[in-house]
Amino acid sequence: MTTNRANFIGGTWRAAIDGRTDPVTDPATGEAYAEVASSGAADVDDAVTAARGAFESGWGTASPATRATALMKLADAIEADTDHLVALESRNVGKPLAATPPEVEFLVDNLRFFAGAARSMSTQAPGEYLTGYTSLLRREPLGVAALIAPWNYPMMMAGWKIGPALAAGNAVVLKPSELTPLTALRIAELAADIFPAGVLNVITGDGEHCGASLVAHPGVAIVSLTGEVSTGKAIMRAAADSMKRVHLELGGKAPVVVFDDADLEAVIAGVKLFGYYNAGQDCTAATRVIAAPGIHDDLVAGLAEAAASLVVGAPADPATELGPLVSAEQRERVAGMVARASDQGASIATGGGIVAGAGFYYQPTVVAGAAQGSEIIQREVFGPVVTVQRFADEAQAIAWANGVDYGLAASVWTSDVGRALRVANAIQFGTVWVNDHGPLVSEMPHGGFKQSGVGKDMSVYAIEAYTELKHVMIKTA
Ligand code: NAD
Repeated sequence: MTTNRANFIGGTWRAAIDGRTDPVTDPATGEAYAEVASSGAADVDDAVTAARGAFESGWGTASPATRATALMKLADAIEADTDHLVALESRNVGKPLAATPPEVEFLVDNLRFFAGAARSMSTQAPGEYLTGYTSLLRREPLGVAALIAPWNYPMMMAGWKIGPALAAGNAVVLKPSELTPLTALRIAELAADIFPAGVLNVITGDGEHCGASLVAHPGVAIVSLTGEVSTGKAIMRAAADSMKRVHLELGGKAPVVVFDDADLEAVIAGVKLFGYYNAGQDCTAATRVIAAPGIHDDLVAGLAEAAASLVVGAPADPATELGPLVSAEQRERVAGMVARASDQGASIATGGGIVAGAGFYYQPTVVAGAAQGSEIIQREVFGPVVTVQRFADEAQAIAWANGVDYGLAASVWTSDVGRALRVANAIQFGTVWVNDHGPLVSEMPHGGFKQSGVGKDMSVYAIEAYTELKHVMIKTA
């Protein structure tokens, strides 16, 4: 397990200036097993100063090939360290060990994609758009990017942020979640000999002190957060004072719209996998099934059976399909929401309780018949809980799918191609899958409509978020 518990700033490991630390807890046992630096404003200032220095002393003007080569080396180092990273992430987040290697594979693929993208950034063609002048566009890095990550995919979210930010030529300060800092620190360790000192800094600490200081720091040009909607709003407000750029990947409440002509078995398999993957702690989780009258009852029964069959257990056990939630607080939130749904008349088709014993386990749960306006339909649960509602017709299905503040991801299940496209067009979500739910690729953007955020992760569109366009206009006559 990791030995690095300090911040990685300017190429060196430094304890928090005031010496404070935060414990790291194992969600499967509830016991603390490591300590990391609990950083404050002075540590943030050190990290931003180091990043600014690295940006100005060469990284900001390094060639695309130089940036790409460094990202490729980081991808290779991460790939070679897969077993270690998987063990760290699994224990820190409570993810089943057997399901975690694909997250490293995807992170490696993301970084390789961004390495390639660094060398092929595009803009509109230069030209004489006004007689006597030649216009050309430059895509320039912003400077220091503050990257603030959540606890549900700590390693992948770190990659989704450092990849495009570094590819574009920014220097970065990455702050992982206070609950799950260990893989970000390991990535810093792997990157130490690859990037010039100060290009990639990692500091640990909470949101209130460390995160807020980063957002307020005048040396930061862009804040990129993946986190809750409420955190995104707080950051947007704080960033307004200095007009920092914000890039916000926030919560979701994905509808799974199922028509009568859908393949019932495929829907059940899809929701079993993507409704409960990572114990449902996923912004795109297939959590909100909206089913046609003819398929609704079979779906509730099938999903209840599928959910009840999930193997709940210790992350390290190869048979485990569902691990614990990340914290006692998160489990309380999930349990409270399910209890209130039941009090308000929804029925619990399976699950609905905490798992007795050590660790923060919650039963895989299916809730049927919740009202559209109820809390469990409107708010992100972020636990192993899937709701099923019965819609009357296509118009109601679309209205219910859209009838939440979020707009991150959705799926439509039908064998009618015209209806699939019609509904996909009508629903306001950043990603819409047809007859599946969950797969992502590095080349395609991932990001929210409405309160699910601002900007896109992955794809060339992510790089755009970490650059400014400059128009240079040359008088030629
Ligand atoms: P969170 O908002 O509580 O914390 C996210 C990060 O923000 C943490 O590092 C935290 O320390 C920091 N933070 C908190 N308050 C801050 C402040 N005032 N200023 C600066 N930083 C602050 O979110 P979480 O509970 O860690 O993660 C779960 C959330 O993330 C869910 O809502 C989930 O949907 C969302 N998420 C979204 C995506 C996406 O791609 N859209 C991906 C993964 C997770």
